[in-house]
Amino acid sequence: MERHDVAIVGGGPAGLAAALRLVELGIKDVVVLEREAEAGGIPRHCGHMGFGWQSHRRLWTGPRFAAQLRADTSSLDVRTGTTVLELGPEGHLRIRDSQGARHMIANRVLIATGTRETPRAARLVGGTRPQGVMTTGALQQHVYLNHRRPFDRPVIVGSEWVSFSVLVTCLHLGVRPVAMIEENAATTAPRAGRLVARLAFGVPVLTATRLIAIDGRGQVEAVEVEHGGQRRRIACDGVVFTGQFRPENALYMTGPFASDDLAPRIDSAFRCTDPAFFAAGNVLRPLKSSGTCWRQGLAAAAAIAGSML
Ligand SMILES: Cc1cc2nc3c(=O)[nH]c(=O)nc-3n(C[C@H](O)[C@H](O)[C@H](O)COP(=O)(O)OP(=O)(O)OC[C@H]3O[C@@H](n4cnc5c(N)ncnc54)[C@H](O)[C@@H]3O)c2cc1C
Repeated sequence: MERHDVAIVGGGPAGLAAALRLVELGIKDVVVLEREAEAGGIPRHCGHMGFGWQSHRRLWTGPRFAAQLRADTSSLDVRTGTTVLELGPEGHLRIRDSQGARHMIANRVLIATGTRETPRAARLVGGTRPQGVMTTGALQQHVYLNHRRPFDRPVIVGSEWVSFSVLVTCLHLGVRPVAMIEENAATTAPRAGRLVARLAFGVPVLTATRLIAIDGRGQVEAVEVEHGGQRRRIACDGVVFTGQFRPENALYMTGPFASDDLAPRIDSAFRCTDPAFFAAGNVLRPLKSSGTCWRQGLAAAAAIAGSML
């Protein structure tokens, strides 16, 4: 069976920073396992500026930042197209890559699998199942990785910071959203967000408005919303569900350690209840900036190296 000193699950900012620091600290046998075709994590498809300051003292777009992280780790063993399917006690992993499924064992495992938005399926929205319904992450992959235009006049559901990055993505596409819908009485992002959406992007923010149903046969044709007990239809051709981040937990919920609030339970040194496992980055709630996750990756690497002395 393949053995390593450290296996890192997830090649985003946290995982790649940890790999780099471990090697600097003298732990040479480190493997990063990344399921996507390219490492870099979420920044790969965030086309807007706002990345790189905490780690490199530069202000970059997400793809530029991801490319820098890949360049920084180009001499390391970063395996893309490799999904970790299962975690077992004492550093056991079941992985799948181009050669099929097999087992691996590592003295230490760092879980850095990040987070994802809550999709439609988990939000209990009625109606039909047409094309054009997606999360921010999926939209950004369509736009920045696949260069596709999935709709012309979507509705954005949610008003967190990430919801405003949908406005930037839409601007990049030359698309103007019909409305932003927020269930609560005020936007989740600070109040100025409402003004920014309306004045800078020309998009009304409908607060205290709940999405009831999505309608359409092939593509989305309209959404049904409720405000103050009144229901109405808004014509649109897409719906973007934003925010409500939850850790990417499919992997570790059946793992050999305890989880709290959907995230692995850790001590002050990022260590899980099974001492072979550590966790860092956005997989630990709540959603953080890429720079904070990168720093957490460095700190977790130091803790892992210390635990191996
Ligand atoms: C729309 C959006 C806009 C953002 N804008 C900004 C911004 O402007 N500035 C900023 O600093 N931050 C921004 N962020 C936050 C930033 O992207 C995250 O903080 C950062 O990417 C988290 O890093 P991470 O390494 O913890 O996780 P991720 O970047 O999510 O990386 C996790 C990696 O793990 C891989 N993975 C998951 N499960 C498995 C598995 N089972 N096997 C193998 N690999 C697996 C994933 O494919 C992924 O590559 C934004 C986030 C979003 C969603």
